[in-house]
Amino acid sequence: MPDNPNAEIVAIGTELLLGEITDTNSVYLARKLRDIGVNIFFMTTVGDNLGRIGEAISRALDRAEVVIATGGLGPTVDDMTRQAVADVFGRPLEFHQYLYDNIAERFQGFGVPMTANNRQQAFLPECAKLIENPVGTAPAFIVEAERGVVICLPGVPREMKYLMTESVVPYLLQRYELGVILARTLRTAGIGESSLDDKIGGDILSETNPSVGLAAHHGCVDVRITAKADNRGAALAMLDEMQLRLRERIGDEVFGVDDATLEDVVWDLLERNNLRVHVTEAGLPGVISGAWSAETDRLRTSVYESPKAVFDQYDIEASGKSLTGIAADIAASIRQREDVDASIVVLSYPDLAENADVEQGSAVAISTAAQSRFRGYGFGNRSNLAREWISRWGLASLWRMLKEEHA
Ligand code: ATP
Repeated sequence: MPDNPNAEIVAIGTELLLGEITDTNSVYLARKLRDIGVNIFFMTTVGDNLGRIGEAISRALDRAEVVIATGGLGPTVDDMTRQAVADVFGRPLEFHQYLYDNIAERFQGFGVPMTANNRQQAFLPECAKLIENPVGTAPAFIVEAERGVVICLPGVPREMKYLMTESVVPYLLQRYELGVILARTLRTAGIGESSLDDKIGGDILSETNPSVGLAAHHGCVDVRITAKADNRGAALAMLDEMQLRLRERIGDEVFGVDDATLEDVVWDLLERNNLRVHVTEAGLPGVISGAWSAETDRLRTSVYESPKAVFDQYDIEASGKSLTGIAADIAASIRQREDVDASIVVLSYPDLAENADVEQGSAVAISTAAQSRFRGYGFGNRSNLAREWISRWGLASLWRMLKEEHA
């Protein structure tokens, strides 16, 4: 039995091939396998056809030690995974009274009559190991053979995820004596991927265990540390040590770890320092203020339909001035007038799409007692990018400004 098995995923279902549903199951399975250090070199999608399912599984077994199939375990005629796996291994299907009783019990629990075709779900290939499925009726199973291991999971994502996490991952860890792989994410904001890469340095980025990788999402860059060790304690110690080394180089850029969100971290800063913020949103309601649920004295919001409504309100002659310059002026004047610690102004033209040929279709400006920051974008609020970039950049900048002035 190989120490470090390769795996393949076979997603079964004609709906997948017709483009009617997206194969999110394979994505989930791939990540789970990555997290335990199992390599995948191929993934296959196949329709509800007995011969082709068998062929897909058989080819996968030629290349990999472990094959994980998802879908086709239901009670209907197009659910053929059980039969296909039995055919691949040349084994018959066997009836299991225990499974039948379980399925019958679940139907009784739901108060729904069990139809005759549900009996089909009580059959498994000879010598298959049952994976108990407390979250659905389709029994999942594992076949271990000379050629390799085939693991069949239901197609319903909720059931598949539960069984993968609760049963299959522990099974693989034990069977192949896989080490423990742990990951930790340091979340940064307001610094670009290449600058961050430069600050971390090639020495750290080229290390393999623990490894450090970057993933950018609109204004925030995650730094993911992954460590593999024999046991959890050792993997945690490796993560801690790398985190310390990274903190020395990029500590100022990190706003939180793992599930920390910029929204929560900024709100926390406001609360801890008893600060108040005013948000003006023209053309993009909620783009910043929507990060927080409550309208309290700490957060006040003014919403306008378009930048023009703001210009009218403040009696601004917009022609010839840059949108960012206007936003910065308004932010400073609102901060003084409302007597708040920070004022944010977003101006976004509601009639401009993503490819509008303008210099500035959207602008965001932040004013605090000590600083002013602003930025313009070449798209208006018809573009999805407007919301993403403005909310990320706005929160990231506010976080930096508040941190520098109050933390
Ligand atoms: P059940 O008997 O519980 O229906 P099953 O194993 O027969 O399970 P399928 O009939 O293949 O599963 O799929 C059930 C549903 O699960 C599909 O209609 C689809 O909504 C979803 N599904 C199936 N495969 C995938 C996949 N690869 N990615 C995302 N969703 C999927």
